[in-house]
Parts: sequence; structure tokens; C-alpha cells
Amino acid sequence: MFAIDHAATALLIKRRYPSVPIAPILISVQAMELAWVILNFLGVERTTTESTVLSVSDIHLAYMPYSHSIGTPIIAALAAWLIIEKGFGRVALGRAVGIGILSHLILDLLTHAHDIVFWPGLTSPKLGLGLYAVAPWAAFVIEFVYGILCWAVYRGSRSLLALIVICNLANLSFFSASIPGPENYLAGRPLLLVTIILIQIVVTLVLTGILARRTAPGSSARPLFGHRVAAGSAS
Ligand SMILES: [Zn+2]
Repeated sequence: MFAIDHAATALLIKRRYPSVPIAPILISVQAMELAWVILNFLGVERTTTESTVLSVSDIHLAYMPYSHSIGTPIIAALAAWLIIEKGFGRVALGRAVGIGILSHLILDLLTHAHDIVFWPGLTSPKLGLGLYAVAPWAAFVIEFVYGILCWAVYRGSRSLLALIVICNLANLSFFSASIPGPENYLAGRPLLLVTIILIQIVVTLVLTGILARRTAPGSSARPLFGHRVAAGSAS
């Protein structure tokens, strides 16, 4: 799933846990992708492209067992939840961050090609519904609708809706080989792709966090930085 729609997931979680500041939720929903960026830059994980890149189906997340396996984000989510909730007594924060980390795995499984293994070291089976590889347009529609659904549940402002719509439309050329776009320049330049995704992550997280402060007239959504939840209670 593309960056803006992972960021939009933070709106759902914020709605469920209104007392939790949105900043840690935003980081949690992209924790797997941030790990992927770092590990690609370090050369531990690897991305490849076809000799010509016309759409997302020409980009291959060839090796990413640490950032994007089934097991590692589950363990990361459990560890974050245990440390924050059981260690520091921040119940709502622990649950929000744990759910945020897991949300990324679930959403990627729905859209990715078959590139998610169970655990580092295992080469098969590789999971992922395969939409990016065989039906990119379906992936685009699903991501677009999902992003707007997150906004609707959050009861966000029009500016937040505009951000979600614009960022989804900005990705349009990635979903269709017949629509030219910047992806053409990514052939043979996987680290350029990683850099662009890092920029997308940062921009979408920051703007979502800023615009989530504003809520639609009459909405009961709480402010961005609400009160801390009392220790031992969930909100
Ligand atoms: Zn991902």
C-alpha cells in the first residue's frame, strides 16, 4: 500500500484511541516501511526493477524478510505493546502502537505481489494478494476508497480529505502502464525509488498529522494531542 493510505490508517487508530497523540500512531503505521528504507540503504534488503518501469508491477521488492515478513512485525508489535502498556503503564498508547505496526502488514498483504515470507530465512511460501502484479487498477481503487473511508471514520477536515485525494491521484501513473509518470526514471535505480518512498513517507505523515488537528464542523473527534490516558485504563 502506498504511503498516504498507510498514514490514513493512523486516523482510524486515533479515532479508536482519541487520548493517544497522533505522532506515535503515525510512526507506528509506517514502522515497517521505515525499516525497509533503512535496510535497503544498508544493502541488507534489496529492490529490483525491470529494464523499463511503466507501473508498480515492474518494481520488485526482491528481498525484504526483516522489514516485511509475517513474523517480524508481529513480534515488533507485541514487544511495543508489552513495553509500553505493561512496562510503562500506558495502556491506550501501547495498544494503538501495536495495532499501528500490525496494520501495515495487513494492508501490504492485501495489495503486494507475492513477496512477503513468513520469517527471515524462509524463501517460501511468499504471501500477498498479488494486486500490484496482476491488477494494479484494482489496487488503486481499493487504496483510494480505503483512504477516504479512514477520513470519513475520523470525521476529518476538508483539507485532510484533499490531502488523501491528491496524494492518491499523484500515484495514478504507478498503477497504469499507459499513463506516463516519474516511474519511468526508476528503471535500474532502486535506491532512487527507496529515496522517493522515504520522502513520500515523511511528507504524508507530517501533513496527515498537521491536518488531523482540524476536524469537520460538528465532529466529536478529539484534538491532535489529547490528554494522556490514565494508567491501567484503556480509552
Ligand atoms: Zn510496506
